Amino acid sequence: MELAKRVQSLTPSSTLAITAKAKALKAEGHDVIGLGAGEPDFNTPEYILDAAKRAMDEGLTKYTPAGGIPELKNAIVTKLNRDQELTYTNEQIIVTTGAKHALFTLFQVLLNKDDEVIVPAPYWVSYPEQIKLAEGKPVIVQAEEANRFKVTPEQLESAITEKTKAVIINSPSNPTGMMYSKEELAAIGEVCEKHDLLIISDEIYEKLIYTDEPHVSIAQLSDRLYDRTVIINGVSKSHSMTGWRIGFAAGHKDIIKAMSNMASHSTSNPTSIAQYAALAAYTGDEKAVEEMRKAFSERLDALHGWLTSIPGVECEKPSGAFYLFPNVMNTAKACGFEDVDSWVKALLDEEKVALVPGSGFGSPENVRLSYATSLEQLEEAASRIKQFVLKYQ
Ligand code: PLP
Repeated sequence: MELAKRVQSLTPSSTLAITAKAKALKAEGHDVIGLGAGEPDFNTPEYILDAAKRAMDEGLTKYTPAGGIPELKNAIVTKLNRDQELTYTNEQIIVTTGAKHALFTLFQVLLNKDDEVIVPAPYWVSYPEQIKLAEGKPVIVQAEEANRFKVTPEQLESAITEKTKAVIINSPSNPTGMMYSKEELAAIGEVCEKHDLLIISDEIYEKLIYTDEPHVSIAQLSDRLYDRTVIINGVSKSHSMTGWRIGFAAGHKDIIKAMSNMASHSTSNPTSIAQYAALAAYTGDEKAVEEMRKAFSERLDALHGWLTSIPGVECEKPSGAFYLFPNVMNTAKACGFEDVDSWVKALLDEEKVALVPGSGFGSPENVRLSYATSLEQLEEAASRIKQFVLKYQ
């Protein structure tokens, strides 16, 4: 049977593909080090697990309102006020099945056929696919490595057409780990205001920052920017809760209402038990979050040092998230490979180290390494990569 056109051009997630291949090699008995993961390796903190168990014991296992339980919406409102100094009401919040589905639903309610959304590259793999699934058109704007992979207002402006409806800002970024400063966001905001664009601000890595620079949401910069921004966030990365599937969107009440209507006919509510767990996450103290951040920070320093000691590997030190995104084009060429994709494949086959090629993120000269694994594993991975590079040179 022929499948619908909308799925025929879908590309499978490259991050999931490499993780699956690494798992298959592991199952065959190979000693594989996977640096492909897009999730923290820590267990979900104990106080959150306890809240979920309590929810089950208390019978909180039934349907909830499609857009989330009011207590969790209140907790998200409080969180946004505490961390971003932003004021929202419950009507401006929807709880979703992960941040991914908040984005998916947002594109569904926002885009008509051929409406354009500007996606700065390197980008998180799902943005272009989700825009296409909503019949929209992703317009990729290539950020320069020399500008720490951040788009400039001029680049943005030159990509805007009559059809442009929104711009995505992901700071700190997956896959680069780079973060926009307040000034850079203000300049981008000015362009968005001038052309009356919606800003989709994906802040999922907000808690994972390793410099003294604070996280800034573009919505914080002025009332006018607040009005045109939809914030996307969730507990997956901040509280090591990827499997619980709780995210949220915060924005104009009409957009949120449309998203809730969509959810009521698609997912219904996110899992009730997971919502109570997320409630504990947002209302509990952030000691565990900070401990995880510190561990990531230590790993970043170590891995960045090991990696940049490999001949030809160039890598800007990122500010946040848990990825390094080095340019390995020269290394791959020096090793005799035509492109980075084949270098990554050979590295997995020969040294059993799984990285994600940058091509899936719109940046084919780079690779993404996730440091969501132990220091020992990271050291071993870096030493295998070095061995692999030296073998070919
Ligand atoms: N946005 C970015 C930039 C991500 O990296 C991810 C997960 O990898 C998500 C959104 C989705 O997060 P969630 O697991 O909450 O759906």
